[in-house]
Amino acid sequence: MTLALRYVTHSEIGLVRKNNQDSGYASPRLLLIADGMGGAAAGDLASAVAVDTIRKVDAPIDGEGMLEVLAGAIHRANDRIADLVEDDYSLEGMGTTVTAMLFDGTQVALAHIGDSRAYLLRDGHLEQLTHDHSWVQSLVDDGKITEAEAAVHPHRSLLLKVINGQPANDPDLTMVDLRPGDRLMLCSDGLCGLVDDPEIEAGLSEADPDKAMAELVEAAHAEGGIDNISVIIADVIDDADSAAAAASKMVVLGAAANRKIPELETRIRPGAAIGAEDSTDLQRPPSSGQSPPADDEARYDPQPPKKGYPRRTIATLLALLLVIFAGLGAGYAWTRTQFYVGAEQDQVAIFQGLPEGLPGIGLSRVYEIQDLKVSELPVVYQEKVNATISVTDLSDARRAVAELMHTAGRCTEAPATASPTPTGSVSPTSGSKTPAQTPQPPATSPTPAKTATTSGSPPTTATPLPAPTSTPATKPGC
Ligand code: MN
Repeated sequence: MTLALRYVTHSEIGLVRKNNQDSGYASPRLLLIADGMGGAAAGDLASAVAVDTIRKVDAPIDGEGMLEVLAGAIHRANDRIADLVEDDYSLEGMGTTVTAMLFDGTQVALAHIGDSRAYLLRDGHLEQLTHDHSWVQSLVDDGKITEAEAAVHPHRSLLLKVINGQPANDPDLTMVDLRPGDRLMLCSDGLCGLVDDPEIEAGLSEADPDKAMAELVEAAHAEGGIDNISVIIADVIDDADSAAAAASKMVVLGAAANRKIPELETRIRPGAAIGAEDSTDLQRPPSSGQSPPADDEARYDPQPPKKGYPRRTIATLLALLLVIFAGLGAGYAWTRTQFYVGAEQDQVAIFQGLPEGLPGIGLSRVYEIQDLKVSELPVVYQEKVNATISVTDLSDARRAVAELMHTAGRCTEAPATASPTPTGSVSPTSGSKTPAQTPQPPATSPTPAKTATTSGSPPTTATPLPAPTSTPATKPGC
């Protein structure tokens, strides 16, 4: 049986925010929500880039090949964001979630990164199809807090993984078989971060999709409407109902509908095969008014997802070398008040400075090698260390290390941490969503506590916990 999607869409600023950083796209074959972040800079740009890039794969593709196509498109979106940041460092820190579905008439391929969500309502029962890449979700997964606690956690907006131009941000990929009568829903956390699943299930159970949409948006408003709200509701119908299916036109939502994407500077990607074609890299729909020059397309030739970005790595290395040889640092006092935890060879180390420098201005050095090998940590923590862990100050860094040692089963005198729900460092409602691995410029730092503790006394049990990015574990100390 061949099925079709009949959908309704909605994207709005919400009741509090000043602009809409969500983007979305819906067509009979592709559904996509992207929730941009990056403070004042460019969250709307990041989500618009995701939509503009991923929509290029909106074409007939069958079966599990759709997964590869989506993964490739997300990879290209990530590359494009990296390139935009490289061209304009004021964009550093921008990123976006992506929840995307490609539909082939019987099933959808679902690709997901971040904390936007996809749900399936089948026979009146709501099932969440995606797993949030959020800090609080990791705490829930580890059994440290409950779902209910996660829903009101002050750091619930912090993400562990987004599309932000950095490597190793691979999406989760799954196939979902569909049946007539199924209802799919994609949304940004402006809905699902505020409205709990039972209420979403109730709203989504309203047969009329427009009424269901209205109920869901109303529910998000009732919870404060503190974030942008973007929702796609798609009913799976028998294709024979062609009139209904035809009612669903392609639509671009949110920031992607009007955000201009800067043209990239011309650059040559090493190893890019000239003229390489792939049936999955489709022409941009003619309606798009934001196409880069056609010859720029070669930069986005399909390529298998890969772990590293040689060009970025080389740029970072060059920046670091410049620092070492130029002996810079005196003029960058601020950076010396910044610390992070990372890996020095196989040793966990505290670094002073920022994980990534500015062009020509590398900004970090090893401050203190720790008596802890990265390889002694569980893999998930190895990844966190290798991606670098943000902390607010030196004592916070030491606490993060102590937590890591605890995790590694090498318990030392870790200061006891009083509560798994830190208070005071980030407002639950005002903080922008923040990709965890991204070094934050001061203006968009999610940890206002930083300034208060930079020169302060060592932490005590009364000190609020650092931002959650700093400590993968929040259990009390040893
Ligand atoms: Mn959001």
